[in-house]
Amino acid sequence: MKPAPFEWHAPDSVEAALALKAAHGDDARFLAGGQSLVPAMNFRIAQPAVLVDLNRAPGLGTIAQDAEGALRIGAMARNARIERDATARGSHPILAEALHEVAHPQIRNRGTLGGNLAHADPASEMPAVMLALGARFLLRSLRGAREVPAEEFFLGPLATALGPDEMLAEIRLPPLPPRTGTAFLEVARRRGDYAMMGVAAVVTLDADGRCTHARIACCSAGPTPMAAPLAAAALEGSRLEEADIAGAAALVRQEVDPMGSVHASPAYQRHLAGVVAARALRLAKARAA
Ligand SMILES: Cc1cc2nc3c(=O)[nH]c(=O)nc-3n(C[C@H](O)[C@H](O)[C@H](O)COP(=O)(O)OP(=O)(O)OC[C@H]3O[C@@H](n4cnc5c(N)ncnc54)[C@H](O)[C@@H]3O)c2cc1C
Repeated sequence: MKPAPFEWHAPDSVEAALALKAAHGDDARFLAGGQSLVPAMNFRIAQPAVLVDLNRAPGLGTIAQDAEGALRIGAMARNARIERDATARGSHPILAEALHEVAHPQIRNRGTLGGNLAHADPASEMPAVMLALGARFLLRSLRGAREVPAEEFFLGPLATALGPDEMLAEIRLPPLPPRTGTAFLEVARRRGDYAMMGVAAVVTLDADGRCTHARIACCSAGPTPMAAPLAAAALEGSRLEEADIAGAAALVRQEVDPMGSVHASPAYQRHLAGVVAARALRLAKARAA
């Protein structure tokens, strides 16, 4: 298949890109790595009249820690670069662990974190990781900038809080407190496939080994990435013993709302949510300790 005709613009600044988006609104789409948008255009599932190519706009690919220890990742940072980046691996190792499960190396070489998140595929790994890490997204337009927490960004399958004139410019990840362990695990039929179920877990322990904070989020688990706040709350104050983890896993099974696919029924996905959550929590606990 070939895409429907479109106009292509490759602005050389973020401001020029925002001006084009403001002028064309929903008729225009940003082009990042093209790994989701171009196939969708070739199948004519997406038919944007205008493409605003971000690949020549400088300043969108930075990966750096700020003075408060938060990790700031520019939306155009390629997934493969984030996977290998020493700062990102040191501050938030779950990024590399989860990115390793995203598609294949060739796709990660080109695909960007911003494009992956803006695409908002509920089966995608990184939106769930963002919920588990308490990420905030910087959205920019000619009108100004605003920060949106990850839990308010994903509205439904392929739907986000981005306005027609807005760009996802930066992903901000708060620093992980001491004695925090993270883990991302998934079950897929083959490496590189979208997961039938994936779970991101973050746990913080006190000096005595008690859990002071936990976050759990799942992909392929509903119309958006699905947080499991009841399961996370149940773990707080516990020592993450096997019975605590089993209780949390049972709550995760209740909190997800899987839609099913050709590979897995909703009931099987729900079962997997409990199994994978328990494994991820055990791993996160071991890493925190
Ligand atoms: C064979 C195959 C297997 C895959 N498997 C997986 C997988 O297992 N897990 C997974 O998560 N993904 C998978 N993907 C998708 C892949 O991760 C894409 O790279 C990613 O979803 C989109 O990133 P991109 O940079 O290529 O964005 P693009 O394709 O360029 O854009 C995607 C969408 O986001 C919008 N957009 C892009 N950047 C911005 C921005 N800065 N601000 C606002 N809107 C923006 C675009 O307009 C478009 O609507 C797979 C893709 C392929 C082709």
